[in-house]
Amino acid sequence: MIKYIGNSASGGLAVGKIKIINRRITGFKRVVLATHREKALYEAAIILAKDELRELMQTGDRTQQDILNFQLVMLDDNSLKEMVETNIAGGNGAARSVEMAMEEFCARLKNIGDGYLSERTSDIRDVLGRVVDILDGHSRERFNLTEPSIIVADEILPSDLASIDRQYALGFVTVGGSYQSHANIIARTMGIPSVCGMDSEILNPLNNGRTVCLDGYSGEVHISPNDGTVALFHHRIKQEQRAKLSLMALKEKEIYMPCGDKLEIWANCNDPQDITLAINNGAQGIGLVRSEILFMKSSQPTFESQLEFYCRCINAAQGKPVTIRTFDIGADKPIGDISLEKEPNPALGLRGIRLQYRHRQLFETQAKALYIAADRCGDLNVMLPMVALEKDLTDYLEMAEKVKNELLEKGDIYVDRITWGVMIETPAAALISDRLAQHVKFFSIGTNDLTQYTLAADRINVETAAYYNPLHPSVLKLIEITVNNANAAGVKVSVCGESAADAACAKAYAQLGVRYLSMAQNAMIPVKQQLLEEYV
Ligand code: PEP
Ligand code: MG
Repeated sequence: MIKYIGNSASGGLAVGKIKIINRRITGFKRVVLATHREKALYEAAIILAKDELRELMQTGDRTQQDILNFQLVMLDDNSLKEMVETNIAGGNGAARSVEMAMEEFCARLKNIGDGYLSERTSDIRDVLGRVVDILDGHSRERFNLTEPSIIVADEILPSDLASIDRQYALGFVTVGGSYQSHANIIARTMGIPSVCGMDSEILNPLNNGRTVCLDGYSGEVHISPNDGTVALFHHRIKQEQRAKLSLMALKEKEIYMPCGDKLEIWANCNDPQDITLAINNGAQGIGLVRSEILFMKSSQPTFESQLEFYCRCINAAQGKPVTIRTFDIGADKPIGDISLEKEPNPALGLRGIRLQYRHRQLFETQAKALYIAADRCGDLNVMLPMVALEKDLTDYLEMAEKVKNELLEKGDIYVDRITWGVMIETPAAALISDRLAQHVKFFSIGTNDLTQYTLAADRINVETAAYYNPLHPSVLKLIEITVNNANAAGVKVSVCGESAADAACAKAYAQLGVRYLSMAQNAMIPVKQQLLEEYV
């Protein structure tokens, strides 16, 4: 028996046979042809890659289709194309030029300071890797699973999940990847155990077909386990199945604080499909839909596509409250047609609501789509990200009021069904929350950014992880100030940062008076269970 330890990326247990997929780009010597011929090869490879993606789209589900769609859009991205062409003009072969552009492009995305967008790098690596494979004459090894297997790979890419037969995927073990990489986010929503950051030795072809016991909670991987280990894993798997069934009974349970207040568990969702799932799993509301996700589906979302998306979100919530956040696009994000200048410190730059001054039209169109969606489909909560000044908020609301009045005058809407809120995710916003409370009906505390800005610790930098603590007294103090100011003004307060999914944080926030906790939906029942142990 050999035991490896990696990082937990998706909880769960599995016992099965190993299927190794190793597609590392080998970097073998490539002959470089004349520039115009390399350019022609690159263009042909893009056409072939698009054909492959379209073929994959025939079988994928909605989430995978969205990812493949994003990848199709990326293949047409002008800035990426320019980077490749510049590299070719500099004397590099087409495949190498794509690899270089991939690194540059992904490095830019990694620097944008927004978990969501920076995590798109694995989608981009995936699609550009496909182009490189075509240029190198490698056919992509598909996950042709014919029996239940535990996949051991250099990295699981989003398009792999489109070609995988899910009934046979018992678990994932990867050398690369991270907790936040897209494939692991999907693995968590699919409930498939996954361990990442594994020693590359595990890719040894001799491991193919060997039995493995995988513990997605602890990150432990036992290859060729002894009979006792296998029996223990089977026992734990059975216990877990029973526990899951009894936990589902908590779905409908209400949580009451000792003071009698109700504590609600809401969900953070990406799209209408997610919302349906969350509501069916007991979410009492949807506390965060990041509207910038629309930029990943198309280069710049049109008014029509936004209207359709917001309406589908409202309908999917089946009458429960839905909260859409206006675009939180960051400086230096190569997003759609919006060109943002490179900034030395993008997390502190033109981000979120600060972009309303530069991209007025974009925000007006969004406000219009939100008003019409609410009028046609139902009440909507809308909140503004990255507010630091009272003026950020009042300027936006003034613009929105103008948009609303025009819509009312033209008869495009009959009523205003939007409730406005603001994200408290800068220390400044928390400290002036008494003033902000005069303009809105709810606050949503974004602990991801609030922690980053309060402790001056980059949220995606592992080197500063020890400083990044959403339970630090300074963060709790800001939350307390926010709750007190909100209560004094009759404004509701929720937390929609990732930390709400951590039971210890959830309890601390509830103690401070937060009554709505919005989290990734797979955390809802476990957090609820722990809160119910504390409260009724
Ligand atoms: C937050 O900052 O806590 C938040 C929810 O917003 P995002 O993670 O999108 O910055
Ligand atoms: Mg934020």
